[in-house]
Amino acid sequence: MTVERTLSIIKPDATRRNLTGAINKCFEDAGLRFVAQKRIRLSAQQAEEFYAVHEERPFYGDLCAFMTSGPVVVQVLEGEDAIAKNREVMGATNPDDAADGTIRKQFAENVEANSVHGSDSAENAAIEIKFFFEDDEIVG
Ligand code: ATP
Ligand code: MG
Repeated sequence: MTVERTLSIIKPDATRRNLTGAINKCFEDAGLRFVAQKRIRLSAQQAEEFYAVHEERPFYGDLCAFMTSGPVVVQVLEGEDAIAKNREVMGATNPDDAADGTIRKQFAENVEANSVHGSDSAENAAIEIKFFFEDDEIVG
């Protein structure tokens, strides 16, 4: 077990429905700590760059439009095995496949508007944290 940090995003479908607190409670109840958090509006360029890995997928354009459709909350979560734990608490990408009690099962509207993002590896967590936060904005 190692203490890790991961990048989480509360997506526009969830901020629109005022679910930031309810989602944050799920992470805190799982033993994860918020060490940085800010509410921002992604620019088109930021959304395209953040999801560049999905550039060739048919849903890329819609996904970037969705991610810029309202405010998001970007956050750094810290804890034992934070990367895997965060993804466990989020649940499967498609809420129809997500386990009971997960954030996506409880709150996601559909496979695109699925309420949360979480880094999928240690390498991507480091890249994604740097994408949104300066070192001095993260207070552990
Ligand atoms: P995230 O990267 O947001 O944490 P994930 O790792 O579970 O989610 P990815 O495969 O990386 O899923 O897809 C990134 C995002 O693209 C998804 O969270 C979802 O918002 C959107 N997405 C994925 N698959 C589809 C699809 N088939 N149709 C529409 N949108 C999709
Ligand atoms: Mg992903």
